[in-house]
Order: sequence, then C-alpha cells, then structure tokens
Amino acid sequence: MQSSVEAKPRRRKNFSELMGYAGAYRFLTYASWLFSGVSALLALVPFVYIWLIIRDVVQSQGNFSQAASLAHYGWMALLFAALSMAVYFGALMCSHLSAFRVASNIRRAALRRVTELPSGFTAHLGSGRIRRIVNESSGATETYLAHQLPDMVGAFVTPVGMLVLLFAFDWMLGLLSLLPTLLAFLVMARMTGKSMAQSMRQYQDALDAMNNEAVEYVRGIPVVKTFGQTVYSFKKFKGTIDGYSRWVIRYTKQLRAPMVAFTTLINGVFAVLIAAALAVTGRGATDPVFLLNLLFYIVFTPILAVTLNRIMFMSENNMIVNDALDRIHLILDAQPLAQPARPVHPADGSVEFDKVFFRYPDARTDALRGISLRVEAGQTVALVGPSGGGKTTAAMLVSRFWDVTGGCVKVGGADVREIAKEELSDTVACVFQNSLLLKASVLENVRLGRPEATRGEVAAALHAAQCDDILAKFAQGMDTVIGSKGVYLSGGEAQRIAIARAILRDAPVVVLDEATAFADPENEYLVQRAFERLCAGKTVLMIAHRLTSVRHADRICVLREGEIAESGTHEELAARGGIYAGMWQEYLQSVSWKVGGKE
Ligand code: ADP
Repeated sequence: MQSSVEAKPRRRKNFSELMGYAGAYRFLTYASWLFSGVSALLALVPFVYIWLIIRDVVQSQGNFSQAASLAHYGWMALLFAALSMAVYFGALMCSHLSAFRVASNIRRAALRRVTELPSGFTAHLGSGRIRRIVNESSGATETYLAHQLPDMVGAFVTPVGMLVLLFAFDWMLGLLSLLPTLLAFLVMARMTGKSMAQSMRQYQDALDAMNNEAVEYVRGIPVVKTFGQTVYSFKKFKGTIDGYSRWVIRYTKQLRAPMVAFTTLINGVFAVLIAAALAVTGRGATDPVFLLNLLFYIVFTPILAVTLNRIMFMSENNMIVNDALDRIHLILDAQPLAQPARPVHPADGSVEFDKVFFRYPDARTDALRGISLRVEAGQTVALVGPSGGGKTTAAMLVSRFWDVTGGCVKVGGADVREIAKEELSDTVACVFQNSLLLKASVLENVRLGRPEATRGEVAAALHAAQCDDILAKFAQGMDTVIGSKGVYLSGGEAQRIAIARAILRDAPVVVLDEATAFADPENEYLVQRAFERLCAGKTVLMIAHRLTSVRHADRICVLREGEIAESGTHEELAARGGIYAGMWQEYLQSVSWKVGGKE
C-alpha cells in the first residue's frame, strides 16, 4: 500500500473521463448539447418579431389599420419563446438522465473500491470524509453535466446566432455592437487566464491552511480552557486567518478594475450604439430604416451580457469539477487489497510475524522494523512497551488492516495475503478500543459477528460478555437502538457489546487492545471478565496496558521503536533487568504508593 492518502492535483481530461462513466448514456449528453444549441437559436427569434412589431408600429404612424400583422408577430414571438423553452426542457431531460447515470456510476465505483481497500486506509480517511467525497464530489459532476455543460453550449451558440443577425440588419451597427463585446472578451481572458488558475490554487491553499489550523485549534480547546489562554496563543491559527484575509483583499482589489471594465463594456453596448446614431443623425441622415435597425440592436444586445457572464464562469465550473474528480480519485486510485487467486486455508490457530516491516503510506520511517514473533495455537502473547512502539500497528496487520511492506504475517501457517478475505475474517476476531457500534439495535450490532446467529445465541454472547446490566437498564433489552434518544453507553459498556460480537464470531484467533482507562472500577472489572471469556481457549495477541493482565501471558514482547526489544515470560523479563523489569518496578512502586496512600 504505497499510495498516498492525500489529494494530489492530476492532469486529466475531465469530460472524457465523465463520459466513460456515462456508457451508452453519453449520447444523451451530446443530444442535450444539440437541443440546448437549438433552443438558444430559437430564443433569438422572438427578438426579431419584437423588432417587427416596433417597426410596424413606427411605420403606421398612429394608423394601426396599416399594422395588421401585429397580433401575428406577437403570437409568433410567444410561440418561438415557448418552443425554445420546450426544446431546452428536452435538453435538460437528456442531460439529467446522463448526469444521474454518471453520478451513480461514480458513486458505485467509489463505494466498491472502498470495500476493497485496506481497512487502515478507510479508517485513516475517516468515514465522514469518505461519505463527503462520495456524495458531494459525484454531486458536483452531476451539476456540471446536467446544467453547466448544456448551458455552455447555449452560451456559445447565442453569440454565433447573434452575429448572423447583427450583420443581417446593418453590418455597421453590427460591428459597432461587437466592438465593446470584443474588448470585454479581452478583459475577461486576462482575468481568467493562467494567473487566475494560479490564484485559485493559492486561494484553495490559504483556505486549506486555515481549515487545518481551525481543526487544531478546536482540538486544543481543552488546553486553552485549562490554562486560561486566548486565541492569540494559537499564533499559527491567527496567522492563517490573517494570511487568508490579506490574500482575499489583495486579490479582490486586483480584480476590481478589470471587473468594472468588463461589466461596463458588456452592459454598455447600447451607449456606443446611441453615440454612433447621434453621430450619423447629427450629419442629417435621418434614415427611418437606420433608426429602426438601431432599435433592433438596442433591444437585442443586452443578451450579450448574459451570455458573456455565463462564459466567464466556465473556467470556474471546470475547476470545481476538476477538484471533485481529484477527490474521487483519492479513493479510486488507492491500491485495493489484492485477493488471492488460489486461496490457502489456515492449518491451525497460530499467528506468526516473519521479519515484518511496515511503513504507513505517508510516513517517512518504518513503524515496524523486521519483527519476528510466533504465537502458537492456544497461546497468549502480550505486546507491551512505550507509546508509539508499534503495538497497534503489529496487531492490525494480523487482520490485514494494512498489508506489510516487507516480510509476512501468517495465520495457521498461511500468509494472510493468501487467505480468502472471508476466511481470514472468520479466523481472526479483533476488538480494538473505540470499536465501532452502528446506530442499530444491540441485537443487530452483536449479530454482525455472525449474521445467521439466533436470538438465543446473541443473548448467550451478551451474557458471556457481561452485558446483563446494560440490557437490564433498557426496557427494550436487546432491541434497544444504540445512539437513539436516551440510550447512552459508556466506553466500557460499548466495549463489552463489541466483545459480545467477537464472542459470537467464535474465531480461533483473537486480537485485542486492552482498554486503558475506565471511569469506574465496576466497568473495568466487567470488561476484564468479558475479555477472559472471549479469550478462553483461543490464540490471543493482546496489546496490554496494565501489567497485571500481562503476568499470565505465555509470552511478553516489548516493542520499542518498531522492534522487539525483549521477549520472554514475566518471570524471565522481570529478572533480566531490562525495559520490562523497569516497567514492572514502576508498577510495583505505584501500587505500594497507592496502598501506602490509603493507610
Ligand atoms: P503503539 O500502539 O505502540 O502506541 P502504534 O502502532 O500506534 O504504536 O504506532 C507506531 C508508529 O506508527 C508511531 O510512530 C506512530 O506515529 C506511527 N503511526 C501510527 N498510526 C499511523 C498512521 N495512521 N499514519 C502514519 N503513522 C502512524
């Protein structure tokens, strides 16, 4: 697993990738473009009729019997406007069908990949983030395909259609109205060019930096409160906020002049035309045809402003969909756990580490550096040692939370990579701290251990895991939904339910992380009892935090800086005078201190 867990900007063709997900539906996307283009052209026709109405009204000079076609023109304008809307509606139907298909295919691909990824990867990303990536990013592609692309086609077709009309009426006025438009285009190109992409990246970076520091700040709130600090003690956080606001203000100021120029130019076409008309009429040429054409341009050219605005946002839309695809690729490009072509069955319940190396995807150093260790079937081995020594990492490798980067982990003599996924999960049961409980009934949560278990079997597992007092608290017993109103489980209670799940699974190998801290001794005692029931007769690899539970282990391994520093029984290690002996002495002292304190 060497792929990074952080997003990397990628160079790719967004559209062709999206069309790959559309499959046969891609033709609907193309059809939507066609319809959108046709609709844009149809939308121009009413303007011609409106101009015809104006022309007839002006020419009739108050004698409306001469302007018999007014009603006809009016209806035609309405008809074309309606037709344009109907065709646009058709375009949206097509684009949505295709967009929904693309979004659902992306979601499916991402979710399928999530199930194939190492649990360590998904745990690292976090379920909340995965949900956001899958939902929001596919949603962004949907907006892009369903609305933005067809609208873009319309936005490009409109100026072309207008160009034809502009020249058909009076080429001079046509050219004049294009002049400010052309200038506006140039200003826009300068605004949204390469520098814009660069600025957008800087903007995202500043935003990310601020978000990250905000998370750090929230994490640090207990410290802030305890030590009476203020926000200014979080200099980095304040620094990123200041940096962000400086950047935004500078960028906004930088865009002020071009934005004003752009808006003035595209909205001010009529002013140029009127000035031109004045110049012409000022020379005495009061040609009624010219004046009528001028009216046409004044009615017509404001559409330019709308279309140009749409085009201006095109690059922004592109950036949004690009970013969405980058995020989706964070999941899609992650290396899945390879499944064996010819699975091997574990021969017994033994666990073995054979010169295992492991490095986390984004880490610079190895978390495990060549550890070798064998747990015979039915034995208990305890992992102890300083925090960060690699205990959790080693334990997680047994159930293929991650794949090793060197050496191999064996269960029942078979490399875990050669064992079928289902069989491995039937063979190894894990109980880690903060075991995940779903928002479902206690019964369903425990049944995850063995879906076909009967109610009676679940009840027996709950009883063995010392959960009777928990069930007694709730009127609905096993059917109480965890996390629903009024149902609060303490850490110890949640862990006992997770242990019940592992007991029900009845796997020959148990990997567990002993809990560290409990609010009350009663809970602590019950969890220990539940662990004893879970581990009876099994192969156990245990991350131990209290030395009392370690004493009875068949073997103790001290992990330090990713290596096994010491290994042996309690008696052997206590006598050796090494790290473990030191830990044991400390423990004895703390106990005698406690006892002494009480006396
Ligand atoms: P222990 O359980 O003994 O406290 P761990 O197995 O949790 O130790 O950690 C071993 C090393 O791996 C530490 O240096 C820790 O910082 C690093 N580590 C643990 N989890 C991750 C992770 N998800 N990504 C990167 N490094 C990690």
